[in-house]
Amino acid sequence: LSKALLLLDRDGVLNEMVVDPEHGTINSPLHPDQVTLRPGVGASLMRLRALGYLPVVVTNQPAASKGLTTRSNLESVHARVLDLIEKDGGRIEKSYICFHRSEEACACRKPKTGLLESAHADFPLPKSTAWMVGDGMTDIEAGVRFGVSTAYVGSRKTDAMDYMASRGVRPTLWVTGLADLIEKFEMGEK
Ligand SMILES: [Mg+2]
Ligand SMILES: [Zn+2]
Repeated sequence: LSKALLLLDRDGVLNEMVVDPEHGTINSPLHPDQVTLRPGVGASLMRLRALGYLPVVVTNQPAASKGLTTRSNLESVHARVLDLIEKDGGRIEKSYICFHRSEEACACRKPKTGLLESAHADFPLPKSTAWMVGDGMTDIEAGVRFGVSTAYVGSRKTDAMDYMASRGVRPTLWVTGLADLIEKFEMGEK
């Protein structure tokens, strides 16, 4: 029985970011052929479910709104992520996607809390046991604003730490990925 809502950012947490060697940039996948899972994600999701966590995805996908790809491609990318996760032995309960860009001033784009609110309305488990997990500062900011625990996926050596501090935002945990998060849960950090 699920006791806790696990709000997962997608890109950089479940699937790998896409490196563009020509421009030296790192992006979200814009086409389903670009989707690869991060290692061990299926097994980690299965283990998290066994620990009582209900995994849902909360993700910003503004690329079509910015004219970088099509909405149809973005939907295919997401379907591919979910499909690869299932082939890897895991399962996402439900996905919440913001397709807007910041100029559209929607209520859902992280660091706003609309996606988290929608997930919580569908699965009204206590906020006191919920976690927001992401590799972006906006993920942590959304989680803090929403009032849940947060796990930042990334290195402590990045500028992210200073930036988040300047915004008055501090993640509950720093982890390298879902496997590390599970280790910390099992060690009783929460
Ligand atoms: Mg991300
Ligand atoms: Zn939105």
